[in-house]
Amino acid sequence: GFDSLLRPGAIGSLRVANRVVMGAMHLNLETLDDGGAALAAFYAARARGGAGLIVTGGSAVSPEGAGGPGYSMVNDPAHHPALRRAAGAVHEEGGRIALQLFHAGRYALLAGTGHTPVGPSPVYSRFSRATPREMTEADIHRTAADFARGAATARALGYDAVEIMGSEGYLLNQFLSPVTNERTDAWGGDPERRRRFPLEVLRAVREAAGDDFPVLFRVSGADLVPGSSTQEETDAFAVALAEEGVAALDVGVGWHESRVPTVQATVPPGSWAPYAEAVKKALCAAGHPDVPVITSNRVNRLEQAENLLRGGGIDYVSMARPFLADPDLVAKSSAGRPELVNVCLACNEACIDRSFGEERVSCLVNPRAGHELDFPERRARHGRSYAVIGGGPAGLEAARALASLGHEVELFEAAGELGGQFRLARQVPGKEDFGATVRYYAAELARLGVRVHLGRRLGLGDVPLLRGFDGAVLATGVQPRLPDIPGWTRLRTLTYQEAFSAPEELGERVVLLGGGGIAVDLAHLLTGASRPHHITLVRRGARIGVGMGPSTRWVILSQLRSHGVEMITGVHYREITAEGVVVAEAEGAERLIPADAVVFATGQERERTLMPALDRAGIPYEVVGGAQNAEGLNAVRATAQALRAAHQL
Ligand code: SF4
Repeated sequence: GFDSLLRPGAIGSLRVANRVVMGAMHLNLETLDDGGAALAAFYAARARGGAGLIVTGGSAVSPEGAGGPGYSMVNDPAHHPALRRAAGAVHEEGGRIALQLFHAGRYALLAGTGHTPVGPSPVYSRFSRATPREMTEADIHRTAADFARGAATARALGYDAVEIMGSEGYLLNQFLSPVTNERTDAWGGDPERRRRFPLEVLRAVREAAGDDFPVLFRVSGADLVPGSSTQEETDAFAVALAEEGVAALDVGVGWHESRVPTVQATVPPGSWAPYAEAVKKALCAAGHPDVPVITSNRVNRLEQAENLLRGGGIDYVSMARPFLADPDLVAKSSAGRPELVNVCLACNEACIDRSFGEERVSCLVNPRAGHELDFPERRARHGRSYAVIGGGPAGLEAARALASLGHEVELFEAAGELGGQFRLARQVPGKEDFGATVRYYAAELARLGVRVHLGRRLGLGDVPLLRGFDGAVLATGVQPRLPDIPGWTRLRTLTYQEAFSAPEELGERVVLLGGGGIAVDLAHLLTGASRPHHITLVRRGARIGVGMGPSTRWVILSQLRSHGVEMITGVHYREITAEGVVVAEAEGAERLIPADAVVFATGQERERTLMPALDRAGIPYEVVGGAQNAEGLNAVRATAQALRAAHQL
């Protein structure tokens, strides 16, 4: 059960229905030219799905504090209609919503805006690739006033609370840390003076918002940056915030510049709760046990959240990405159907990786996220019947979407099991949750009454069968592409699919040709094998891991390096000999890479043999996923195509 989680609570004067907070996410919906319609629909869906309190993505208190071009600005009247609409939509669903007051400081991504980032000191940031201008005394007072004005505005726009963003290395966190605050005036020099500005901001915000308006503070439990604030300083700051009347502390971890992974799939869930528990302990020791503490980062299942709450060390759990993956996660769990929850994979591909650019945030496993208005939850006027051919991620999403529109759907999968490429991915360390996605789809298709045929490869002889449907979705995926390299038979050679199905049998020295995401995954899988392998990744191009998301690539590559995986780029494949693979380097010098087995992860071809037959038979169809586009197999694109196809058919 979820007894601890589903208990009502109070954050200051605000009553909330349960202990699940939806954490702030910048969505790139905030400044769309639609009057806030998409933003409101996004938040309304999460309120309807049971989030106890929703915290909006950061709303910048001044233009130079914006995280990027798509940020909402609470103090700009042009943004008020959208912000008001979002709050109203949440209230209509019975939810609660806090506006996050945000200033990026030296993390502001301001290229092309005419603004310059500001910060406590001119310390270069690797994240924004900028050196901020040092804030003057006047800047400091004006910025505190900007936060205060933002809070009063949020209240006037209908918000239930505000959260001051003070973690993840943004402006207020920059003032706290000796790494970024080198001042020797009243705002820096020792821990107490470094705390002064964030405390001043809280004071100004509370005064502007009024005593009965809860002000949460997102505090950094650990910066994970060498030389930054100590645990004692963090504790002292938390206590000072409590003494200033903060309504709750939301504990984040890790700066964007940190070299410690915090939100990637390889980070064990629940890893960061101890930092929130430490904050709670410090508050209790200082006589503030009543200030609620919220843990966040890398909790992707309500079962984990429930356990954390039962442990008694924290009061609320904040989950962000899991609400992209499944807006109804709380509602499904409270209805006793946790198996129907679509679990967040922590892949970051459609969310975090996009949030630093301008593309709309969505979700690999739930492409409707961020597109709630484009794909309304409705029943089609005329129920039709469709065949979905292929049970990989694209086929699964197409079948789910068609069935939820009220159509009759049959899915045909050649393998004995659903999942397609996800069946390979789930074997990789940190990607086990890809198996949860397949289980979710299986449960969802069963609930929706989709007839699933496993071990049923449709061929040309099945066209008469397909004629019995009103249309089809071709989601037949890909076949591995084999490189043009002589000497095949002299050594053991396998496709990546074959290697995934028997990783233990590859011998000691394995050369992986191709350095895209699949080759990297396979290398990662082999590093975890019980028998040690010597693995070499060889790529013609210049970069290993092309196509992987920027927030994930560096983590996985550094893990591979620490396991001794060798990476060779910019070479030509010459020949396979009995000893290994001969490659030519740019200057023409040849070298032999010794191998017992060579695996081809050199791309893939679209599998679409049925297409001409469907055309001839005049059966309407859509092609989705790898069968549509095999370049750099992209599951985000695949599921998004599938959803769109279901609504177009
Ligand atoms: Fe989670 Fe990946 Fe979806 Fe982001 S895109 S919410 S990380 S499953």
